[in-house]
Amino acid sequence: MCKRPASPTESDNASGEPTDTYIQILTSGGRRIPAHANILASASTVLKSIIDKPRKHRSSDKTVPILGVPCDAVEMFVGFLYSNKCTEDDMEKFGIHLLALSHVYLVPQLKSRCSKALIERLTIENVVDVLQLARLCDAPDLYLKCVKLVSKGFKAVEKTEGWKFLQTNDPFLELEILQVIDESESLRKRNRKRRKEQNLYIQLSEAMDCLEHICTEGCISVGPCNKEPTKNMFPCSKFSTCQGLQLSIQHVANCKKRVNGGCVRCKRMWQLFKLHSSICELPDSTCNVPLCRPLKAQNMKNKKEEGRWELLVRKVTLAKATSSLLLPKKKRNEKDPTPKNIMALEI
Ligand SMILES: [Zn+2]
Ligand SMILES: [Zn+2]
Ligand SMILES: [Zn+2]
Repeated sequence: MCKRPASPTESDNASGEPTDTYIQILTSGGRRIPAHANILASASTVLKSIIDKPRKHRSSDKTVPILGVPCDAVEMFVGFLYSNKCTEDDMEKFGIHLLALSHVYLVPQLKSRCSKALIERLTIENVVDVLQLARLCDAPDLYLKCVKLVSKGFKAVEKTEGWKFLQTNDPFLELEILQVIDESESLRKRNRKRRKEQNLYIQLSEAMDCLEHICTEGCISVGPCNKEPTKNMFPCSKFSTCQGLQLSIQHVANCKKRVNGGCVRCKRMWQLFKLHSSICELPDSTCNVPLCRPLKAQNMKNKKEEGRWELLVRKVTLAKATSSLLLPKKKRNEKDPTPKNIMALEI
């Protein structure tokens, strides 16, 4: 804490201007803290207006009461007005009091310092008290952090004395907090759903890359019909997806039931072929992917395809275009050892 003059003497300024005058700060414990009026006035407009208020008796000492908080907290507050500094220890002991004082006396630097310090010290036990204070003192950053913590650890917070007290004494705030939690929960759900969908599009776009790669260059066990599979081929960079596809292509070639017989695996593979034909931009004669040409023709005929399929095609095309840009190079080349069951994707 900053040191102020320990025992200021009477003003040596004969004019009586507040530049050199001393005032007494009176605290709840009856302690009197002497301080320079001009320093206090320049640090806080609220204190300035109190100091500038005309006195009843010109000769009487100017006293500014700062009550309702511990004397030591007032000492630290005055110390901050002098030095613009306070220690971690001050924050540890009197963070909440200093926040209240900074709000009441309009000292924004101290307020933001207290907000940060209290955020660092938030716990399940103190969060409800700090939240109420943050709301009273209009400290939005701190309030938001409190709400987040309450929302994250609600089961534990619910059991604290602070929460029980709030329920009995401030049901409106309880309702407000519960509403915020509810909104953030549904936002989280929406984000989770969006991420899941995005993941599906990325996996499908990867499957499309693999399909093209299997049908043009060939990979481990499956290759294009006009080419011998390359001997001693190493697993490709998307091997987990690629392997699943190769197994399915082999399945389709040998399946007795087929799509019309109700084979789910064949149906999924057919959907992947269809998806390929919807995004394939190669001229008919140059694409090696099975069924590309007839399915393209079918797509043309059914131009008024269901909106859902069109949306899927658009999303996969977008994912295909962006996935290689968004993924860091290292990740792109990483080999995932577990084979992905691309057939399990719900299109
Ligand atoms: Zn491959
Ligand atoms: Zn089948
Ligand atoms: Zn094609």
